[in-house]
Amino acid sequence: MYDIMLGRDIGDQIKFLSIDTHQARHPWPPETIVSAGKGVVVQRHPKPGEPRTHTTFFMEIYPPGAAFIRSEGQTPAECEDSAWAQYQHALDCTDGTGRHDWESRGYRNGAGFCSRCNTFDPQVFTGEQLGQHCRVCQTGTTCHWETDEATGQVSFLCADHCPPLEGLASNPMTARSPDP
Ligand SMILES: [Zn+2]
Ligand SMILES: [Zn+2]
Repeated sequence: MYDIMLGRDIGDQIKFLSIDTHQARHPWPPETIVSAGKGVVVQRHPKPGEPRTHTTFFMEIYPPGAAFIRSEGQTPAECEDSAWAQYQHALDCTDGTGRHDWESRGYRNGAGFCSRCNTFDPQVFTGEQLGQHCRVCQTGTTCHWETDEATGQVSFLCADHCPPLEGLASNPMTARSPDP
C-alpha cells in the first residue's frame, strides 16, 4: 500500500498518525493508496446522552477497482475491517471492473452515488451529462450555479465565467476583464 501522507510505499504496515503502526489484517492490493489517522468527529445533532464530539480512527482509501472509501472505528483494526467490508461490497457490485451504477441524487457538483452499493465518488458526472450549461458560453459545467429568487430558475456558470471568489478580486491572477 502507498501512504499518501508519508509519500511512500508502506507494504502492509498502515500508519495511523500519533499511534503505533498497524499491521494490515486484510490483503489490500499493493497499489492501494491510503491515508490513516485519528481525528475528532463533531456531531451536529447528538442524541440525548451522547457526547457532542468523539475521537475516532479513520482511513481514507483509494483501492483499485473501486471508488474512494472512508471508514471510522474505535480501534485501527475496527477501522480497517469496516474499510475492507466496504471494498468487498464495492468489488462485488462492479465485478472488479470499477463500473458502478452512478446517480447524481440531485448533486450539481459532479458527485455521484452508486444505486447498488452506495459508493460515493466526488467526480463522476460532467456538466454536459447533468444538462448544466454555462449561461454565457454554453460550456458544460459543475463549477457554479445560482437560483433566481423570483423565478426559482437555476442557472449555471463555467470556471471562466464564475464570479471571482471573495477576497481574490484584487489578485491579478484571478481578476477578470468584463465580458464584451
Ligand atoms: Zn456500486
Ligand atoms: Zn462560460
